[in-house]
Amino acid sequence: MGEEEQDEEEQSFEELGLDTRLIRALSKKSIEKPTPIQRVAIPLILEGKDVVARAKTGSGKTLAYLLPLLQKFFADSPSKKNLAPAAFILVPTRELCQQVYSEVTSLIESCRVQLKVVQLRSMMSASDLKTSLAGLPDIVVSTPACVQTCLTNGMLQAKALQESLSVLVLDEADLLLSYGYEDDIKALSAHVPKRCQCLLMSATSSDDVEKLKKLILHNPYILTLPEVG
Ligand code: ADP
Ligand code: MG
Repeated sequence: MGEEEQDEEEQSFEELGLDTRLIRALSKKSIEKPTPIQRVAIPLILEGKDVVARAKTGSGKTLAYLLPLLQKFFADSPSKKNLAPAAFILVPTRELCQQVYSEVTSLIESCRVQLKVVQLRSMMSASDLKTSLAGLPDIVVSTPACVQTCLTNGMLQAKALQESLSVLVLDEADLLLSYGYEDDIKALSAHVPKRCQCLLMSATSSDDVEKLKKLILHNPYILTLPEVG
């Protein structure tokens, strides 16, 4: 038993099926070994599964979804054929939006792939929001409210979104509802196509997380670390 556990601890990003470009990009940041939540989440997300990942703050949940998400788009920039973004990463705060945006931008630059990412921020004017989306980004990092604004103002076409959206991430899901984004997420969920892969990251389990899970995810894998019971 001890040996098996040790094997798991030694598992590398390569063994999880990650692309060499991503592994090299991580190495530049001195990130060499996956964290426990990354070890379990990355292979499932690469397979296209819906995942709920619950692990404490600081356990590496951002890369757990960003790495497989980017890899999914490596072969081909989705925006070449899509009229709306292929991925939305929804976060509860402006600070987190900036943090995730920097992380994904730095990985894209480091991997030298043609993927476009934008962040939508609540203080952006309508014309700034419009400009951001007009550049046909592949990935959008935003609060749920900004996405909703873009949908109601016609900057994002619901029909185009239904055709193009292939990954939806709810990061810090435990905070998304307590910050009052329930209605925005509900409105957006009406445009999320069935085949869209949905990922929910959270530090705690709460009724709010359960609510979001029911609203958005289809039969997800539930990963809880450390495992309880
Ligand atoms: P969480 O979202 O679970 O709170 P983060 O994704 O913000 O955690 O990661 C916390 C910190 O750990 C970040 O500074 C991140 O760069 C770092 N980190 C993530 N994955 C690894 C890893 N595999 N090895 C070392 N550091 C990591
Ligand atoms: Mg986080």
